Amino acid sequence: MSDYNHNMYRLDTPLGTVTGVGPSLWRVFEEIPLKTVKDLLLFVPLRYEDRSQRATISSLVAKELMTLEAEVVSCKTFYRGRRTITTAKIKDDTGQISAMWFNNRFMQSKLKAGEHYLFSGAKNDRGILLQPVVEDVKDNTIHTDRLVPRYSTMTGIKEGTLRRILKHILDNLCKAEDELAALNLDILDLPSTLTQLHFPDNDELVVKARERLALEELLSLMKKSQAIKAIWQEKRDAPACRLRIEKTRSYVPKLPFMLTQGQQKAVSELLHDISQSEPMNRLLVGDVGSGKTVVAGIAAQQIIYNQRSVALVAPTRILAEQHAQTLRQLFPQLPIVLVISGSQAKLTAEPTLFIGTHAVINTFEKIQPALLIYDEQHRFGVKQRSQAAELSYSPHVLTMSATPIPRSLMLTIFAHLQLSTINELPAGRLPVKTWVIPEKKRHDGYDWIISELAKMELSSGQKAQAFVVCPFIDPSRSEALENVAAVSQKYQELEKYFAPLKAAAPKLALLHGRLAKTDQKTIIDDLRAGETDILVTTPIVEVGIDIPTANIMVIEAAERFGLASLHQLRGRVGRAGQQAYCLLFSHSQKAHERLEKFSKITKGNELAELDLQYRGAGDIFGTQQHGFDELKFANWADFELIGKAKKLFEQVQSHHLDLFFEPPTLQPAQVPQAN
Ligand code: ADP
Ligand code: MG
Repeated sequence: MSDYNHNMYRLDTPLGTVTGVGPSLWRVFEEIPLKTVKDLLLFVPLRYEDRSQRATISSLVAKELMTLEAEVVSCKTFYRGRRTITTAKIKDDTGQISAMWFNNRFMQSKLKAGEHYLFSGAKNDRGILLQPVVEDVKDNTIHTDRLVPRYSTMTGIKEGTLRRILKHILDNLCKAEDELAALNLDILDLPSTLTQLHFPDNDELVVKARERLALEELLSLMKKSQAIKAIWQEKRDAPACRLRIEKTRSYVPKLPFMLTQGQQKAVSELLHDISQSEPMNRLLVGDVGSGKTVVAGIAAQQIIYNQRSVALVAPTRILAEQHAQTLRQLFPQLPIVLVISGSQAKLTAEPTLFIGTHAVINTFEKIQPALLIYDEQHRFGVKQRSQAAELSYSPHVLTMSATPIPRSLMLTIFAHLQLSTINELPAGRLPVKTWVIPEKKRHDGYDWIISELAKMELSSGQKAQAFVVCPFIDPSRSEALENVAAVSQKYQELEKYFAPLKAAAPKLALLHGRLAKTDQKTIIDDLRAGETDILVTTPIVEVGIDIPTANIMVIEAAERFGLASLHQLRGRVGRAGQQAYCLLFSHSQKAHERLEKFSKITKGNELAELDLQYRGAGDIFGTQQHGFDELKFANWADFELIGKAKKLFEQVQSHHLDLFFEPPTLQPAQVPQAN
């Protein structure tokens, strides 16, 4: 970055020094945390709104978002109770229309009679332009007359402010050498990438910008993986486990089921690795429900026979509690201790399987587990992982994930990993029958659930249960009030709907992230004990929950979920081998085709491919989709891009490449990480 001058921003410029960022805004940024210009540039829009369609006043169509240039005739503000209402008459060559804003005092001072402005908004049925966005007439607009980025508002920062600051930064970003663009002429350069990401000229350029960032992301992963490999290749100081194979042999037949071939193979690969003094770094990949937990349990058992401890890290507390419960059932002889924040679990020196959320990581140094197992790694934040990276010894590491990524591609990116895959589901599993239910049949759907649950209980003699899942309105803050409000409302609606059934009404329970942890546990325990018929919940049950008697999964506003999430949710039912059902409700006409396709595909890897098809330009206007991974831009199913990244990586390996996503420098003491 040679031509830096003090007017220009560099990627590492602290946000506090950016023009327009006052002390209070800076404090908000720091809390998120967004510290540098680069951090803010990576605060990616959730979607884009098309405000580029121009209209005249006479050609406005009710409820269609349009931008028009018009002159303000008059403007006044009055009060209705506690509300401020500002109205303006505006005109162009084709006519005149009234515009109206609520509680927007700023508008009155902005609009000057006789001046021209751009207005972006839609006319309502009564012919009033409601709450249009207003901007001065100019070429390089920010809020109107273009594809406008929409950001999460959960940070408390106004979108308009964010846009203004981002535009200012992008217009004044200093030019840096772009090695990647120099190597590969087919990609956008970095400044255009960042500009198009926030203020795209058209759909295709959003896709191009994301592609460039995806490529960087993949390259950065490869670079990191190679560095880990180089450090760990030489290591021979992991606890080599003296295998007591006969114990596992006599134990496995006592399990309540036969291990599948995939499970058996994974077990033997794992046991081989932990018997070596070279630290294991293995990823166990298996589709939802393929039975990864028991495989991990068998490895844990061997370590404990060797008088060492094991730590199993789950992404959520609910999942940690569940793992403790199921592993206690499957391995009654195994000493298991649940370590979650707030619990007073004793960190015994006895060989133990410790199970917990990231809180368990803080204890690693003390208990020095010989094997670390990370479940559902793709749900892990970077923070937890760097925490685990600070250990001073070399444990074996097993990571488990349902991310459907082909073996060859996985090895392409993660040079430091060994891979075990479980390709089949336990025998006798039936595909979950999935239907998209039109809104007008909603009540029929509810009625069907009740009668189906009763029917299933009659025929199997076992409890039958349903989940009703409402989406997170803002996925970035799962315990946000608006998320809780949506699910609570659904709960009340269902209570009311079923109330007339009196004694025959199903027993409902409500679960969300705002409830006290102990209450969450009680709710899950009740569900497991069969005391609840229908659990109305946010997607906090999405990953890993194993309630074998659950047979029906209802998903509200299904269009708001990515295919990966839908697949995870659907994987929560029918886990005991019974026929199970998934009902998808959706208001979105646009999403219909995608949901219909989802209903016909049951395999994770096929869904990952489908997911990719829907990530083209068409999707930039939709809700942001969660992918099958924790990648921000890249997608595991994008084989082409991964191939391209691999080629590029080989090209640049010889010299140092400055990447936008620079992997953290590795210390020799770092634990091998899965990704
Ligand atoms: P996942 O791979 O999604 O983590 P789990 O380990 O939670 O799957 O297993 C899903 C369910 O299948 C559990 O109830 C588990 O006890 C059961 N299970 C695991 N292996 C088998 C098997 N070989 N045959 C039948 N059921 C199995
Ligand atoms: Mg699991």
